[in-house]
Amino acid sequence: MHHPVRAALWVLAYLLIALAPLALSLIQLDPGRGFWVNLSVAAGFVGLSLMGLQFVIAARSVHVTGLFGPDVLLRVHRQITALIAVLIFAHPIILFVWDARFLALLNPFTSPPRAKFAVASVVLLSILIITSVWRRRLKIPYQTWQVLHSVLAVLVVVTGVAHVLLIGYYVSEPWERALWVVYSAVFIWIGLWVRVIRPLSRWRRRWRVVHVRPQPLGSHTVRLEPVSSDSYGRQGFSFSAGQYAWIQTGRNPFSINYHPFSFSSSAENPQSVEFTIKTEHGFTARVGELEPGAIVYLDGPWGQLTMDDNEGPGFVFIAAGVGVTPMLSMLTTMADRGDHRPCWLILGNRNESEVICSAEVNQLNERMANLTVVQTISQPGTNWNGRAGRISRELLDEVLPENRARMQYFMCAAGPVMDTAQSALVELGVPVARIHSERFAMA
Ligand SMILES: Cc1cc2nc3c(=O)[nH]c(=O)nc-3n(C[C@H](O)[C@H](O)[C@H](O)COP(=O)(O)OP(=O)(O)OC[C@H]3O[C@@H](n4cnc5c(N)ncnc54)[C@H](O)[C@@H]3O)c2cc1C
Repeated sequence: MHHPVRAALWVLAYLLIALAPLALSLIQLDPGRGFWVNLSVAAGFVGLSLMGLQFVIAARSVHVTGLFGPDVLLRVHRQITALIAVLIFAHPIILFVWDARFLALLNPFTSPPRAKFAVASVVLLSILIITSVWRRRLKIPYQTWQVLHSVLAVLVVVTGVAHVLLIGYYVSEPWERALWVVYSAVFIWIGLWVRVIRPLSRWRRRWRVVHVRPQPLGSHTVRLEPVSSDSYGRQGFSFSAGQYAWIQTGRNPFSINYHPFSFSSSAENPQSVEFTIKTEHGFTARVGELEPGAIVYLDGPWGQLTMDDNEGPGFVFIAAGVGVTPMLSMLTTMADRGDHRPCWLILGNRNESEVICSAEVNQLNERMANLTVVQTISQPGTNWNGRAGRISRELLDEVLPENRARMQYFMCAAGPVMDTAQSALVELGVPVARIHSERFAMA
């Protein structure tokens, strides 16, 4: 964390906003309602304000994401959702246990609108959690889930606020009304910012496809150049090697169909950037259809897998499959800078015909005298006479230098490969603080 004071201030502001509605339940409640009702109301209020704050975390603002990193925010987003579920479910359960007459509010035919909104909010929250935790098992395509997730999240908050307003008990004083107005305004502002203002700023900074070159297994490397500049006349943006950007294609930047990809080109040439994209099923399967001249919108740069923030006497890059992309960016940047520090690229692939960017790796090997490339193939064909097997502790022990503990390590691969490499490195004496990794999965 580069700005601990700013980060602490954000956390403080977060806690203040999350807990502010507690004042409503603590100050205003009529003493006759008793401890259990107060506790239930407090749980509901904090759950609702935490739910609203999830939009701040998910909005990918440079201020927040840049400070904490997207991985940390994603973890926090998930953990806070668990806390929200506990609080929001506790709210009615406490009431039901305290006084069984509250159970009558569950009858949709006789319950007042305020109770109907409460039930709707809890049901929607349950659907939101189930469809997120079991998205893959339920076979919900990512794109559909993304839309569903946003719509459900907005509906949970709107129905929750409607429930509070209809109870009316917490909007009688002017300061209470002011609090709700401020909360609603912030909520609407975040929505406008994410869906209108930020896309508009992307519109002013469009990129054009220069060429698309095929890679193995139907994957592609796409080269882009900026076509327009922002109001300050700036074209494109600078990035640190190892970072990534969200890519969106199409006629306008308002679509929510954007995907994260690591830059695979040199950070020394931000006016001409490359991404290497492995074919999955949706967006990635259509990348090969991009024609030169097609317009692309980029949102970034993001990510903290960078050498610039992690200086060392040498670098070890460990990647499997398409995880090679951020490593290529870091190595090409070193080559362009004339950085002669020793580095190792340890690459794992299933089959020798599946090696993405092998031509680029070979070029780097020729350009960089201090680069050692170690390729290993886990299921080699009969013609492969190189190293066979997975990236393992034995392999790392064999190829890493004596002063391995002083190197900086960057890893990007599927989960199991990263877990093996991480524990192997720690066993080999590498401090955890020198191991940096990126996972190509967010949901
Ligand atoms: C930080 C980061 C950097 C990445 N860099 C690269 C790279 O350099 N090259 C590369 O080939 N891939 C990269 N990926 C993976 C890439 O984003 C996904 O493979 C791609 O979004 C899949 O799109 P699709 O429509 O073809 O997916 P589908 O086939 O529909 O889904 C495949 C899986 O990809 C994930 N996914 C799909 N859409 C998104 C999205 N909008 N946001 C987040 N995850 C999504 C989901 O887990 C989904 O289950 C990166 C991912 C992350 C998080």
